[in-house]
Amino acid sequence: MARMTSTPRPLLNRRLAEFGTTIFAEMSALALSTGSINLGQGFPDTDGPEEVREAAVRALRDGRGNQYPPGPGVPELRTAVAAHQQRRYGLVFDPDTEVLVTAGATEAIAAALLGLLEPGDEVVALEPYYDSYAACIAMAGGRRVPVTLRPRDGAFRLDLDELRDAVTDRTRLLLINTPHNPTGTVLTREELTTIAALAVERDLLVVTDEVYEHLVFDDAEHVPLASLPGMRERTVTIGSAGKTFSFTGWKVGWVTAAPGLLSAVRSAKQYLTYVASGPFQYAVAEALALPESYFEAFRDDMRSKRDVLTAGLAEAGFEVFRTAGTYFVTTDIRPLGESDGIAFCRSLPERAGVVAIPNAVFYDHRDAGAPFVRFAFCKRKDVLEAAVDRLGRLAR
Ligand SMILES: *Cc1c(COP(=O)(O)O)cnc(C)c1O
Repeated sequence: MARMTSTPRPLLNRRLAEFGTTIFAEMSALALSTGSINLGQGFPDTDGPEEVREAAVRALRDGRGNQYPPGPGVPELRTAVAAHQQRRYGLVFDPDTEVLVTAGATEAIAAALLGLLEPGDEVVALEPYYDSYAACIAMAGGRRVPVTLRPRDGAFRLDLDELRDAVTDRTRLLLINTPHNPTGTVLTREELTTIAALAVERDLLVVTDEVYEHLVFDDAEHVPLASLPGMRERTVTIGSAGKTFSFTGWKVGWVTAAPGLLSAVRSAKQYLTYVASGPFQYAVAEALALPESYFEAFRDDMRSKRDVLTAGLAEAGFEVFRTAGTYFVTTDIRPLGESDGIAFCRSLPERAGVVAIPNAVFYDHRDAGAPFVRFAFCKRKDVLEAAVDRLGRLAR
């Protein structure tokens, strides 16, 4: 007998059902339809260095990377990544067995989680999280366990006791992000030392997303977790050319890790994209060898942009949290008489002609993130000044 048809089975599987469409699609569409200034999605509105673009053109013309590059990435880039880690942090990685090139940090995150997790493994991650973390943990069959960063003395801070309490016998790895998107927090050497000690004590793996390693301001310092005692052999470090060189469309990222860990990540990565971004890999190899003056000028420029936006948001009546790193600033909208960041961001284009992102979408505990709104400052000064001028309407 034919089976009675009831409600049809949903097409999207259960692992991904909760994830819907990212907020960025909705907000970028709103920016377009209202002619708003888009400080939502975090991509620069100016391309990276001319000589790096030229290097990509040269590679393309010379036929380097136009066909499948080697699975782990072209040797020039793997060598350049290793040299960068050694020059900056004194970390020595073998380009052949300890460096893997990926399709952006996004693929590195996915491959690390897919390669290292068994179904049911718990992943302790800092909340609010970068939007792909939750989805990738779910795709890998893992369970996410958030530890919430909370405002303290004008910035978002990690409660180390809460982190310790979140670790159970089922915890397989800590997923760390510093400098932290969206809060702009940079974990201190003391905090990272405590995290490292916890990882060693509980024998945990650590995946650390350090794509903003070069965007650290004032007296903040970027300390790679892999550089701390006992961490080199248990840490997967993720970097990306997108944020460091302002080429987010090139999708060149990388992983550095001890051979066993790297091999696990590579096992997953080879069945995701296999390879990507051939000619761009050669260009990024040259970019990583740019003189220190490039990195300094890049950081100084972003810092002055941060200052323009921070001052403007405060003037407009927001509470503004201190950004020590990344190119985002998180605000609290309660001084404006608002409490729901999602509703606020939906109305902001109409009210002020500016688009921002509600941090609530980066939380499991939506209530904890409700009043916080993120603005990106990786935009031209004149764009930021126009945005600030428009946001002034909120105070008037
Ligand atoms: C932008 C970003 C990424 C993704 O980097 P891609 O190289 O563009 O894939 C990963 N993590 C964080 C925290 C980011 O902000």
